[in-house]
Amino acid sequence: MPRERTIFLIDGQSFYASVEKAAHPEYRNKPVAVGDPERRSGIILAACPMAKEKGVTTASRVFEALAVCPDLVIIRPRMQRYITVSLLITEIFESFTDQVEPYSIDEQFLDVTGSLDHYGTAEELAYNIQTRVQLSTGVWSRVGIGPTKILAKQATDNFSKKRPDGIFRLDYDNIERELWTLPVHKMFMVGSRMTQHFMYMGLNTIGDIARMPLADFKRRMRQRMGKQSDIQAEYYWQTARGIDPSPVVASIRGDLKSVSHGKTLRASLYRKLVDIEVVLLELVVEVCRRARRLGYQGRVIFVGAAETDGQRSSGFGRQMTLPQPTSLTHEIASAARKLFIDNWHGLPLSHLYISLTQLSDDSTYQLTLFDDRAAAYDIERTTDAIKDRYGSGAIMRASSLLSSGVARERTEQIGGHYK
Ligand SMILES: [Mg+2]
Repeated sequence: MPRERTIFLIDGQSFYASVEKAAHPEYRNKPVAVGDPERRSGIILAACPMAKEKGVTTASRVFEALAVCPDLVIIRPRMQRYITVSLLITEIFESFTDQVEPYSIDEQFLDVTGSLDHYGTAEELAYNIQTRVQLSTGVWSRVGIGPTKILAKQATDNFSKKRPDGIFRLDYDNIERELWTLPVHKMFMVGSRMTQHFMYMGLNTIGDIARMPLADFKRRMRQRMGKQSDIQAEYYWQTARGIDPSPVVASIRGDLKSVSHGKTLRASLYRKLVDIEVVLLELVVEVCRRARRLGYQGRVIFVGAAETDGQRSSGFGRQMTLPQPTSLTHEIASAARKLFIDNWHGLPLSHLYISLTQLSDDSTYQLTLFDDRAAAYDIERTTDAIKDRYGSGAIMRASSLLSSGVARERTEQIGGHYK
């Protein structure tokens, strides 16, 4: 029996604002927010605790923030700096454990199971890390501790953030008392749409879901949401119970100028567009998922291909600037497909490569999304979370991305790959 894991989810409080406050000691005792001071209708991206106390909220408008807090110092965002500080924090975490997984620009998972012998209890280690990060960057860390990623995450979101010491442990001994008594919308990945479904089903607290036998919950979900809801039902039921076997995966962030993925192919098998599109889509799905995991969106999509028929060789590398930054699979898939079709010389393909560049932080941008794109992001993030837990085969993306008839045919061509 392997010993129970100890996982941290560490969140940087008011991340951008904290970075700016550290960079501007002259504002130490002033309320500080990050936003565009020249655009009164622009959005406040982050506010320091002092500003929040005065009523400034993230995602409010600049003029609204100034109305409640006239002496607010508003600093223009410097994304590259926030990315640099985020990386610095990753490096600090890596001095405590080699298993560090950035989840977004200001949240990272750590598996510290192997570090506890050296650093004492999980709480002592958490305190140690908080101190190091604060001294090096000025950012105050909130640490959620749990035996699984899903419990660590829910510990941070619901409890650590509200505590003065910023540390909370959620495990199977206190889950019933702490997590199950919370309203259902406090559960991870439950947005307003799912909350509504659960309300209609008479499920008001997280415990209402957790206490139900899985088979009953699946049946209720099917009645409400249709036959396709089984995997979602399982996901939410496990989330309520804190079950999550997915490991903390140390990811290589590279130079952060791009998120890319490529594949070398057996050219004899990739002569037809219909076959090539399958690989193209796989690459897009992977690039988008990585980008979302890192908390990025990109504006420029690049497609590169090497072509050969054994005698002649050709190839191309072309990029396209999208109207707005994105990490939505269907948006990038259609751009990549167009780039490919417009530039392919028609020879069999021996290599295909995709990258997303001109990256920006997606949390900034999501505050300004219109409803339909925000909903698309919700769905993709839920899909990501399900894949993280059950593996990539859990949800077949292709059918929703491509026109249905062709998709079915293509899925068959992939054969066991997606199964
Ligand atoms: Mg944060």
